[in-house]
Amino acid sequence: MQIGGLQKTSLIDYPGKVSCIVWTIGCNFRCPWCYNKSLVFGTAEPITEREIFDFLEKRKNLLDGVAITGGEPTMQPDLPDFIRRVKSMGYLVKLDTNGSNPDVIEKLIHERLVDYIAMDVKAPLKRYQEVTKSDIETNKIKQSISLIMRSGIDYEFRTTVVPGLVGKDDVVAIAKLIKGAKRYYLQRYFKAETLDDAYSNLKPPKRKDVQEMCEAAKPYVKECGIRGI
Ligand code: SF4
Repeated sequence: MQIGGLQKTSLIDYPGKVSCIVWTIGCNFRCPWCYNKSLVFGTAEPITEREIFDFLEKRKNLLDGVAITGGEPTMQPDLPDFIRRVKSMGYLVKLDTNGSNPDVIEKLIHERLVDYIAMDVKAPLKRYQEVTKSDIETNKIKQSISLIMRSGIDYEFRTTVVPGLVGKDDVVAIAKLIKGAKRYYLQRYFKAETLDDAYSNLKPPKRKDVQEMCEAAKPYVKECGIRGI
């Protein structure tokens, strides 16, 4: 696997668990507000699998799980093998995904290789290509949503609220798209070095506005909350 980052401990990334975070290199989307530029463009300093497994061996009794994020982890052809090895060490696995590879998600679910999936739903289907600056076939997004909701494993969907790009109408349309979902989280855009410089220094949305979006989404999902700063 192409790995570009390791956070040794996180108390917040994997709900209810103490985990480490592994970042994979490469992504097929180009969300303009993305702050993982070095992962998306592949300039991050690579970390070998061996380093990761040596680390996991040492932390066996201290960590519950491994959160795999990116970039987009499902682009890594050897992701299932990597996870199999992580699970054989006794760890739980959380996967973060942009939902663009339903075939990979299906395989991971079918082989019981993931214990928690967090999928970003970036926009209503009709705005997906515009918002993610990609040529994603939106059927794939629909397929991933449906697979995850029917999987029987723990999951969440999440959307980043981005000034001037992803707002209340989008959040409501997404909530309708994932109707009946167990958990839906909204994240607020924050200032950082972003893929598109035009998004580096915007005024973050007010918490009360995001709270209002959350209230508007609540009728469609079982639980809606706000994540992060
Ligand atoms: S925010 Fe978008 S571009 Fe960045 S890693 Fe996630 S899916 Fe890829």
